[in-house]
Order: sequence, then structure tokens, then C-alpha cells
Amino acid sequence: MSFTLAIVGRPNVGKSTLFNRLVGRKLALVDDQPGVTRDLREGDARLFDLRFTVIDTAGLEEVTDDSLQGRMRRLTERAVEMADICLFLIDGRMGVTPTDEVFADILRKKSARVILGVNKAEGAAGDGGAIEAWSLGLGEPVRMSAEHGEGMDDLYRLLRPLV
Ligand code: GDP
Ligand code: MG
Repeated sequence: MSFTLAIVGRPNVGKSTLFNRLVGRKLALVDDQPGVTRDLREGDARLFDLRFTVIDTAGLEEVTDDSLQGRMRRLTERAVEMADICLFLIDGRMGVTPTDEVFADILRKKSARVILGVNKAEGAAGDGGAIEAWSLGLGEPVRMSAEHGEGMDDLYRLLRPLV
């Protein structure tokens, strides 16, 4: 069965890095400087035996703090509407931020099927973030490292029953 997975979350948590890993090539730009990727990007993804469409949400990076919330909300809502399942990423090294909480609210209200990913959690990094992530009320957080390919088996384990 084919489905669409949207990767959402605030700038710089590693959405595009994960998108690239899932599609197996560099379609989305990744950069240390926020501001590189734009809007919504689609690709054909593979995770073990699952084949699906993945959406990378970007385009939030250029706005000022004042307009971030509105723009983020609209873009995220658009992605949620296009998607069957949302993968909400946070940065496990930074832990839960107020902006993450805004995203969690949006996702809970939209009652989409949501997987909570705690990224940048290679090695022991992200241990604290993974514990904090339970407070978002989105169920079991999946620890992962988009950059190093860790946690893809756990992502699969949570994704499979939702498909
Ligand atoms: P986006 O703004 O959410 O799309 O984030 P990007 O994918 O552009 O990544 C932002 C920064 O985080 C880049 O410097 C990435 O190399 C870095 N990054 C992404 N995933 C990981 C990860 O799993 N571990 C670490 N340590 N850094 C990561
Ligand atoms: Mg990006």
C-alpha cells in the first residue's frame, strides 16, 4: 500500500537530512545555515520493505520570529493535509523547545497519525531529549540519527502499523 509521510518540525532539526536518507539521494539541500531549503519537496522513499512518498517541509527559515508561527502553522497544516502520516522531528541535543510545543499542538489538534522522532541522537546524545519528548503527548519518541542512519529500524517499527 502506498502512503505519504510528511516530515515536519522547526528549522535545523534535520528534516532534509532524513528526507535525503529516505529517498537515497540529495534532493533536499542540507546546510549548517538555516535558510537553505524552500517550501515543500516530494520524493520517492524507501524504508526496508516500505515504499512511500515523503514530503520535506522547509521554507520557514527566512521569516522573522514575529511571522514564524503563522507561516510555520500554515505550511505544517498543508503538509499534514497532504500526508497520511506525519513524522515530527525534534533535536534530541537541544531537547523540547517552545517552538516544538507549538508544533505538537498543531499535530494533536489535526489528529493526524504522528510519529515523534528525536533526531541527532547518535551515541548517547539525545538521551535527555528523548525523555523530555514524552511530555509532548505524542506517544513513544523514536531516537534516531538522520545523519548517521541510526534508529531506522525503530522508525520502521512505529511506522509499519500505521500504514
Ligand atoms: P532542517 O532545517 O530540519 O531541514 O535540517 P537539516 O537537514 O538541514 O540539518 C540541519 C543541520 O543538522 C545540518 O548541519 C545537518 O548536518 C545536521 N544534522 C542533521 N541530522 C543530524 C543528526 O542525526 N546528527 C547530527 N549530529 N547532526 C545532524
Ligand atoms: Mg530543510
